[in-house]
Amino acid sequence: MLGLMQNWPLTVDRILEHANNAFPHREVVTRAVEDGQLRTTTYAAVYRRAKQVTNALRERSVTVGDRIATLAWNTDRHLEAWYGTMCMGAVLHTVNPRLFPEQIAWIINHAEDKILFFDTTFTQIVEKIAPLLKTVQLYVALTDREHLPQSSVPIVAYEDFIAGQSEEAQWGGFDENTACGLCYTSGTTGDPKGVLYSHRSNVIHAMAANQTDVFGCGAKDVVLPIVPMFHANAWAIAFVAPMCGSKLVMPGAKLDGPSVYELLEGQKVTFTAAVPTVWQGLLGFLRENNSKPTTLKRVAIGGSAIPETVLRAFEEDYGVEVIHAWGMTEMSPIGTTGKLLPDHYEQDHESQIKAKMKQGRTPFTVEMKIVDDDGKRIAHDGKAFGRLLVRGPSVARAYFKNAGAKNERGECLETCGYFDTGDVATIDPLGIMQITDRAKDVIKSGGEWISSIDIENFAMGAEGVANAAVIGVAHPKWDERPLLIIQPKPGASPTKESVLKFLDGKIAKWWTPDDVAFVELIPLGATGKINKLALREQFKDYKLPTTKAAE
Ligand code: AMP
Repeated sequence: MLGLMQNWPLTVDRILEHANNAFPHREVVTRAVEDGQLRTTTYAAVYRRAKQVTNALRERSVTVGDRIATLAWNTDRHLEAWYGTMCMGAVLHTVNPRLFPEQIAWIINHAEDKILFFDTTFTQIVEKIAPLLKTVQLYVALTDREHLPQSSVPIVAYEDFIAGQSEEAQWGGFDENTACGLCYTSGTTGDPKGVLYSHRSNVIHAMAANQTDVFGCGAKDVVLPIVPMFHANAWAIAFVAPMCGSKLVMPGAKLDGPSVYELLEGQKVTFTAAVPTVWQGLLGFLRENNSKPTTLKRVAIGGSAIPETVLRAFEEDYGVEVIHAWGMTEMSPIGTTGKLLPDHYEQDHESQIKAKMKQGRTPFTVEMKIVDDDGKRIAHDGKAFGRLLVRGPSVARAYFKNAGAKNERGECLETCGYFDTGDVATIDPLGIMQITDRAKDVIKSGGEWISSIDIENFAMGAEGVANAAVIGVAHPKWDERPLLIIQPKPGASPTKESVLKFLDGKIAKWWTPDDVAFVELIPLGATGKINKLALREQFKDYKLPTTKAAE
C-alpha cells in the first residue's frame, strides 16, 4: 500500500521559491570582487535575477542536463547564476580557480561545459585556458559593462547577459534525481573525478547539514560562508541560508583576517565556516589588534583537522562555539560534526576540548563504519582503526562518466555498498569518529590539495635523483606544506636549487616544496612503495624555512 501524501519532488528550485515566499526581504550582502565595496540585495531580488539567468541560458539553447561552469568567488551574482542554472535542470559545475590552468582546462573539457561564468580576478586564467577549451561557447564575466576587463577572449558582462530578460521562468518539473551540481575532486593519482550531485541529494543534504547538532541555523542568524562555493557547495551553506532565511554575507575575493573581521562585526555575523588556515589569519589579526568578535556565536571548521590552538582561541578566549566538521566532496560534503553529547557535558573542560578535537559523529542520513583490509567491520571501541566507509542519500554512488569504477555498474562502491573515504579512523562507543591517518598522502595546504605523488614523479626526473618522496610538514599558516625528500644517485650531488629549478613550470607555483632534504636512503615498505609513515616519523620535528616567516 502506498502512502497518500503529495508528490513533491525534492528539487533545489523549491529552496529559492521558499526564500522568496517566506523571507523576500532578508538581505544578501556581498563584498564586490571589483572594488571591495559592500553591496546589498535580497532573496527576492536574487530570485528574480536567477530567473533572468535561466531565460538568458535558454536563449543560448541551454537545456536540462547541460553543464554550466563557474570560476568564481562567493558573491550574489554567483548565487544567481547558481540557482538560475540548477533550477532549470542544467548542471552547475563549480571549478576551483586555485588549480593549475591545464587542470582547469582538462576539467572543463571533461565536463563539456557550454558556458563559463567567471570573476574578473580570473581573467588571466580564462585567457590562458580559452584556446584549450573544446565546448565552451560563451564567456560571461560576473560584472557590469563598466568593469569589464580588456581581454583577448570575447567576453560578455553578466549584467548585459541578463539585461532585458523576463523575471518569469518555469523552474523544476523534472525528476528529483536529475543532476544538479558537479564538483571535481583532485585525487592523489590519475585525473580528477567529477562528483555529480542530484537535486534530491542536495536538498536532503542541506536539511541534514542544518540539524541542530550540525550548523543549526535559523532566520535570526547572519551567515558568512568563507568556504567557497567551489568547495562542495560551500558546505551546503548556499542552500541552507535561503532555506532557513538566514541573512547571507558573501565575502567575495577578500579572505584575509582584517577583511573577515570587518564583515563579522559590520554585518553582525553569528555563524561562519571555513578551513583552519582562514581562522589562523583571523586569530592572528585579533591578537595583534586586541580585538574580539562581538556577535559571532558558532564557527564551523573543517577540510582538515582543527589545530588545538584554534579551537582553544575561539572557545576559551572569545566564547565562540567551534563545530569541528569532517567530510568530503563525495559526501556533499558533511560527514560528521564534533558537537558534544550529554555524556561530555558531565566531564571537565579539558575532556571536552579533547572530545572536540575528534572529527565527531554523523548527522541523520550518514552512516559510517570502519573495516579492515578484507572489508570486515572492526570494533567501534575508540582504539582499533581501519578504513572509514560511509553511505547515505547524499554520498556519491559513481563518478561522472564512471571514472574510477569499482564494479560493472560503474559504481565507485565497495562490495558492501559503502563508499571508501580513503581516510583511516577510529570510532568510539559513543559513535564519535577520529581520523588517525589518510590512506592517501595528499598534502593539505590552506584547504587545498597538493598531490605528493605528482611532485615526486616530476622530481624523479631531475638530474642526480635516485628516489623522491614528498610529505606534508606542519606549517603555522597553511596547516601543511610540502617537504621534498631526495635520495641522490650514487656519486651525484643534486642541490635544493637544482631540483626546485627543474620543478619550476612543471607544477603549480604554490605546490613548490618549501624545502628539500637529502637522505642516503628513502625507506620502502613491503610492497616496494615508499614508506611515508617512517618518513613522517623521521621528519616529525622538521622546521621548514617558511615556518619562521609565518610565525
Ligand atoms: P575534500 O574532498 O577536498 O573536501 O577532502 C576530503 C578529505 O579532507 C577527507 O577525506 C579528509 O582526509 C580530509 N578532511 C576533511 N575534514 C577533515 C577534518 N575535520 N579532519 C581531518 N581531515 C579532514
